[in-house]
Order: sequence, then C-alpha cells, then structure tokens
Amino acid sequence: MFSKCKNYLAKVKILRSLKARLFLIILLAGIIPSVGMRHAILQNYEDRAVSVRIADVQNQFKILANHLLTYSYLHDTSSDIVNTELEQLSNLYDGRVLVIDKNFKVIKDTYGISEGKTVISEEVIRCLKGSGSTNYDRKNGYIEITTPIVDGTLSVPAGTEEKEGGSLAEGVLLTSVSTDTITTTLEILNRKALIVEIIALIFIIAIAFVLSSLLTAPFERVTQAINAVKAGFTDEQISVNDYVETEHIVDAFNQLLGRMKTLDDSRQEFVSNVSHELKTPLTSMKVLADSLMMQEEVPVELYKEFMTDIANEIERENKIINDLLSLVKMDKKAADLNIDSIDINDLVELILKRLRPIARKQGIEIIYESIRPVTAEVDEVKLTQALSNLVENAVKYNKPQGWVRVTLDADHQFFSVEVSDSGIGIPAEALEHIYERFYRVDKSHSREIGGTGLGLAITRSAVLMHRGSIKVSSEEEKGTTFTVKIPLIHPV
Ligand code: ADP
Repeated sequence: MFSKCKNYLAKVKILRSLKARLFLIILLAGIIPSVGMRHAILQNYEDRAVSVRIADVQNQFKILANHLLTYSYLHDTSSDIVNTELEQLSNLYDGRVLVIDKNFKVIKDTYGISEGKTVISEEVIRCLKGSGSTNYDRKNGYIEITTPIVDGTLSVPAGTEEKEGGSLAEGVLLTSVSTDTITTTLEILNRKALIVEIIALIFIIAIAFVLSSLLTAPFERVTQAINAVKAGFTDEQISVNDYVETEHIVDAFNQLLGRMKTLDDSRQEFVSNVSHELKTPLTSMKVLADSLMMQEEVPVELYKEFMTDIANEIERENKIINDLLSLVKMDKKAADLNIDSIDINDLVELILKRLRPIARKQGIEIIYESIRPVTAEVDEVKLTQALSNLVENAVKYNKPQGWVRVTLDADHQFFSVEVSDSGIGIPAEALEHIYERFYRVDKSHSREIGGTGLGLAITRSAVLMHRGSIKVSSEEEKGTTFTVKIPLIHPV
C-alpha cells in the first residue's frame, strides 16, 4: 500500500515537487477537520433533536394513555374529549396515531384508514407487555413510538420488559411522528456550514500557497546560489542557513567547490609547468640555430657540434612528451590495468639486464637479491616502467663507482621491491615533494643527466593503481632507499 502510494507520487510529475506536496498537506490538514467537524455537529444536532422529540412525544402520549383509561376509550371510542385530544396531538406532531386494544385490533386511526384492522407486530406485542419502544426511520423521515396504555398505578417505565406471559397493558398507542422539521433545520444548518466551509477553504488555499512557498524558498535560494556559481558569476562559497538540511546541502556543495578549485589550480600549475618544460629545449634549439645563422662561413665542425646539441634537445623534448603521455595513462582508472599473473623475478631481471650497460658506463654495480620466487597479479608494462624509473634514478643520482641493490621479497599478502643506492641522497625537506610532477631537487643537475621530473610521479601512480604503497628513506651523501609494496593478488 505504502509503496503503491510512493510509486504513484513518483509518477505524477507535479507531486514530485516538495512545494506541491506541502501545499496538499496543508490543504488537507485544513479541510479534513472542518468537513469532519461539520458532519459531527450536524450528526450531534440530529441525535439531540430526535431524542428531545421522542421524550416530548412520549410524555404527551403517556398523559393521553391515562386519559384513554379514564374515559374507557378502549371500550367506547365516542369520547369527544379524547378524540379531540388525539386529533390535536396528531396535528401537533404531523403524524398518525393508532389506538390498538388488547386483541391487536385498531380501534382508532387518526387517518381513518386502518380502523377495525388487526396489527400484530413485534413492537405492539412487546408494548402490550408493558414495554414501549421507539424507532427512528431516518430514510423516510419519521419516528415510530409505541406507548403502553396502562393503569398509572401499575405503569412500567419504558424500556423495561415485563415477565413472559404477563399482559400489563390494556392497549397500545402506536404513533408515527414526522421529523420533517428536524430535516429542514438540518438542511439549513448544513447549507450555512457549507458556506462557512467554502470561505474557510478559500483562506486555507491562500494560507497553503503562502506557507508552501515560504517553506520551500530556502531550497530555491540554494538552487539560485548554485546556478550563480555554475554560470560563473561568482566562485565564492555559498551560504543558505535557513534549515539544517539546506546547511548540509550547501556545506557539501562548498566542499565540492573547494575540491574543484584545488583541481583547477593544480591543472593550471601543471599546464604552466608543461609549457615551461617544453619551451626550454625549444629555446635552446632556437639559440643554437640563430647563432649558426648569424655567423658567416661557419666551420663544418661547429655545425656538427651545434647540430648534435640540437639533436639532444629534440631527444629531450621527445622524452618529456613520452613521460607526459605515460603519466596521462597512469592517471586513468585502475580498471585500465592489464592484469596478468607475472613472475616478478623475471620481470626485475629483465629491467636490470636493460639498465646494467648504462650503469656500467658510470662504473656502477647493480646487485640483485631475490629472497624467494614471486608470482603476482600485475600489469607488466606499468610495473616495469615504475621499477625501471626507480633503478634508473638510483643509477642517475649515484656517485662514480657506486652501487645499486635491488631486493625482491614477499610475504603471504604482498611482494616488495627495495631499490637502494649509494648515491647523493635527497635532502629531508625535499622528500615530501619528490613525487610531484616536474619536481627536481637540483634542476640543472637533473636536466644535465636527462631527468624530466616526471619519473617518480609516474612510478607512484603505477604503484597506487596496483593498490600498493611506496616509501622512501634517504640520507644526503650516503644514499637512498625506495621500497615498493604491492599485493600479490590484485584486489578487484
Ligand atoms: P627526474 O626525471 O628528474 O629524475 P624524478 O621524478 O624521477 O625526476 O625524480 C625527482 C627528483 O628526485 C629528482 O630530480 C632527484 O632530485 C630526486 N631523486 C629521485 N631519485 C633519487 C635517488 N635515488 N637519489 C637521489 N635523488 C633522487
């Protein structure tokens, strides 16, 4: 039932509006009590009027019953006094009076139709036993009252039944009293109440409209404030503190706004860094080309030298672009990982095989220590790139005749790759920045040895995509250790 109502509310578009719902609730809260009250008052009036009429009639007919006995009317209906009295009462209550004797015979009918006939009904039988009855027939607009004709000294109060077999009453007065006057009064009252109700309804509609508008106004204000931010008129934090609810919405929105701002700032910073990094090799190339062009009769050797420099700059530009592309790939969702079960020993050995010749050139020895065979679910390409960057850095930022140690280990949950070197180390204050894009401790030195400042950012992204962690510890002039920890089974 409840879900049906909910479905219906969701389907009817207008009812999905909070304002419309509030309007309806206030309207119903106003109308239902007033309609209920009208019905209750009218019902109350009707009950009261009917019972007053019954009491009135019963009193009159009790007196009449005594007169009937006094004038022995049940044996002789010629008494003018009683007949006049009967007529008067019949006219007074706009009804019909039947006088029935002990033998269920109608001895007098004020309508003159049923005289001489026999009336055997439950009410009459009961009444003959001394117990009068009343019956209100609302549909046909009359009350039927039976009054026992009993000797006053033996009279039994109405409603108390006499013992089985004992016939107390000499006869019965069967009266039908019209309730037209009550019905007419009811109609007049109903009409007046309806008029009051319609006037009240107009007021209730006005109040419902004003209240529902007032109550939903703060939500309109929230929408307006958000729209203003959306349209770009302002990027200030918004505030609508009318309700706790609007405060919550606005707080959540402000937090989102803050996050977007941070993202925007970092995007702007990134773009300016990228432009700067890409411009540097271009500027060098231009300077080299210009100086060649400005000189006349340049010796071939100088040409060759300058062209080699230009080629190096192009190489550098290429490296930056490649690193940027790698970083963009790493920035994508973890769903883009190409997970396979890979032998990590083989993977590390392959990386070292490729890097050993470069290290050897600088007289650096690479030592590989594999504690146990490890197979893990990883993206081979991305992990290779991440670990290569670490080993490359360990070689690049080393000292002549230094060493690099790579250790592979695992527990039941993770495998770890530790890359330690005997290099120049990283100053403590720089440690928290090394994963930032384009950050380099010593810009010129890094550039000299072909660094782009993107290597560790790429490594960190790749490790995080694998739901792993990366840690660094370093001491200046002594060396650095990077430790990467990655789950053996890739969490879905
Ligand atoms: P780059 O391309 O300059 O090497 P990275 O992001 O790989 O950029 O590294 C950022 C900076 O961190 C480097 O410029 C360097 O100063 C420092 N760094 C990284 N690895 C090491 C290391 N093993 N020893 C000393 N310094 C390091």
